[in-house]
Amino acid sequence: MCLQDSESVPVPQETVEDVVDHKVLMQEALQEAKQSPPKPSNFCVGALLVDLETGEVLSRGYTLEVEGNTHAEQCCLIKFAQAHDLPEERVGEVLPSNTAIYTTMEPCNMRLSGSLPCVDRIIRTKTKDGAAAIKKVYLGVQEPEKFVGENQGRAKLQEHGIECIHVPGLEEEILKVATAGHQK
Ligand SMILES: [Zn+2]
Repeated sequence: MCLQDSESVPVPQETVEDVVDHKVLMQEALQEAKQSPPKPSNFCVGALLVDLETGEVLSRGYTLEVEGNTHAEQCCLIKFAQAHDLPEERVGEVLPSNTAIYTTMEPCNMRLSGSLPCVDRIIRTKTKDGAAAIKKVYLGVQEPEKFVGENQGRAKLQEHGIECIHVPGLEEEILKVATAGHQK
């Protein structure tokens, strides 16, 4: 009996990379950013929480969407927590164990307002067994050194085992949207 090669080679398992298209998701995050009200003191940023196992978008947010001086990543987390009747600091308990956050601009590591930076909000998302719920951060551009100098957030995230991955190709539009309220 003669087996053809195609029958003897196992079909590769579908991988995470097959489930999600990073650029399409970054474009969706950019659509969120466009809803952010342009202000001279903020970047207009958009963000998504995505279940990497299924590709499902769990939550969407943009800068200043939720009341207060809120950032896009923070709004994503607050909205998902609220949908589960939890405060934001406990959102990790209801996030899938392989969650990613897509954000048009790298998460802030310092806030002039004194609010908790988004890097720390991401790090504190822990599942009930104490593991990081958000495992990956996909970012469209680095934060320009306009308000707080160089962003050390990526190093801090990596220290906590959270991978930061740049999704290339949309930088120009992301920055145009982000700085829409700034003096040219
Ligand atoms: Zn932030």
